[in-house]
Amino acid sequence: MTGKLIDPKNTIALIKDRGFSFKKKFGQNFLIDERVLTKIINGAEITGSDEVLEIGPGIGTLTQALCEAAGRVRAVEIDRELIPILQETLSAYDNVDIINADVLELDLKELFSGPFKVVANLPYYITTPIVMKLLESDAPVESVTVMVQKEVAERMQAAPGSKDYGALSLAVAYHAEAEVVANVPPNCFIPRPDVSSAVIRLKKRKEPPVGPSDKDFMFRLIRAAFAQRRKTLQNALSNDASLGLSKEAVEAALRELGLDVRIRGERLSLSDFAELSDRLETRI
Ligand code: SAM
Repeated sequence: MTGKLIDPKNTIALIKDRGFSFKKKFGQNFLIDERVLTKIINGAEITGSDEVLEIGPGIGTLTQALCEAAGRVRAVEIDRELIPILQETLSAYDNVDIINADVLELDLKELFSGPFKVVANLPYYITTPIVMKLLESDAPVESVTVMVQKEVAERMQAAPGSKDYGALSLAVAYHAEAEVVANVPPNCFIPRPDVSSAVIRLKKRKEPPVGPSDKDFMFRLIRAAFAQRRKTLQNALSNDASLGLSKEAVEAALRELGLDVRIRGERLSLSDFAELSDRLETRI
């Protein structure tokens, strides 16, 4: 095989030559647009001293560009059939390791000895579990620059009060600063996905912007608030038996915070949830 895979002619020739058929169950949509590739590499701010984790290298299109830009690349691919293809398409690079594994099963702390950046064109069927694993991990992840469904990117960076705002927005806001670095139409992939995509960069914060005394309790409140987002916050929280909160307790805490007792969760900022969490924790 000659030439870069980002050229659709080369991708199609390779796939035909290997008799490879795309597996929907693994979310396989391969990138074939060079401008998008450049935007991912620039958006991820990769330098020659960086160590990079790529999730789902596919046939190695983004991996080739990462090998050129970064110091070291570890590429984790679940599909065993792609491993011999990757060994060939990446044979010119000595700074890459190809790992055949499910990224959700991997211990991220064992992958690199120091800080690393994550770059990926993610399989859309497991975007949220992968992003949450990366954000919540105590491995030294510096940033996560990933292609996701446009709608998921919008949820990740939504502000209070907007229709996209929810538990994912709050989890991202707690762990990272989010910025969309590219919007990507379906024709940039083969096969074409049914949805539009976006590349979002999540820069992990050194310190979270709020410090509730029990962060896990705060996230339980957030999940309960958005599990029933059409209900008032008071009803959503008191209806969740696992929280053990009475209506009166929630009402008293909301009043103390100067919030309307009929407010919905979608109006509360991360710092409102942190304050609510500290007040309610003592009322269980
Ligand atoms: N990086 C390639 C590109 O941009 O052309 C392929 C991206 S494709 C959207 C997603 C890739 O993730 C596929 O190669 C798929 O096999 C792989 N994948 C799916 N689930 C995975 C998992 N749990 N762990 C690791 N890789 C996975």
